[in-house]
Amino acid sequence: MSADLQKQIEQAAEWIAASQHLVAFTGAGISTDSGLPDFRGPDGVWTRRDAGLPPPKWGAPPSQIRPNVAHLCLVELEQLGLLKFLISQNVDNLHLSSGFPLERLAELHGNGKLMRCLGCESRFTFEQVGWDRRVWGEGYRAHRPLKGQPRCPVCKGRIISSVVNFGDPLPAKELERSFMHSAESDVFFAIGSSLVVSPANDMPRIAMEAGSKLILLNRGETPFDEVADLRIDAGIGEVLPPVVERVKALLAAQPRA
Ligand SMILES: [Zn+2]
Repeated sequence: MSADLQKQIEQAAEWIAASQHLVAFTGAGISTDSGLPDFRGPDGVWTRRDAGLPPPKWGAPPSQIRPNVAHLCLVELEQLGLLKFLISQNVDNLHLSSGFPLERLAELHGNGKLMRCLGCESRFTFEQVGWDRRVWGEGYRAHRPLKGQPRCPVCKGRIISSVVNFGDPLPAKELERSFMHSAESDVFFAIGSSLVVSPANDMPRIAMEAGSKLILLNRGETPFDEVADLRIDAGIGEVLPPVVERVKALLAAQPRA
């Protein structure tokens, strides 16, 4: 590891260890080590399409996709009491399956394993609400509701797949909480996102306007490269574990009040 990268890891760890309201934001880049392709990375879906190349191959069959060390690092930061909220663009369920608590997670584009109530916005697994895809289909918002299909166990509202397809609105409550936590953050850590799609690109701007430090960890360019307080262009799985180790050492050396 280069001396520069070591310095960046140390800097990130110091800010995170001293933070009062750390918010993390993740894009597809955090899941590439799990075998999922990202979109705008060097070998991403859109990068290859723009170069006239065929789509990237999945690194593992879909049934074998598991959370990787980076997902687990975020769970650890949450358990240390540091990571207050996690905003993700991913629909791959890897944050939840890594053990990250649902109540501290906003999945802006939904989650392929969860359904959502249009009335109260509660989230459920397909099994929890008795939604059999063989009978009721995927339950996308644009599908016509079928007579007798399961309703929300909380408010009896219509439940749909939480996955946000093109043209669907984003989940309002999760979006609102994401804006709120971004504005409240003192350290905003963007991981594996090129931050070009709205509202992804709004969150770091809102955080910075509120005086938060912006840390970027991403392969490839983002629109925030010039204004970020710290920009780390390296592998996520190479950077997050030493950051978390260093954070733990700093906390142990200086217990928080
Ligand atoms: Zn409901």
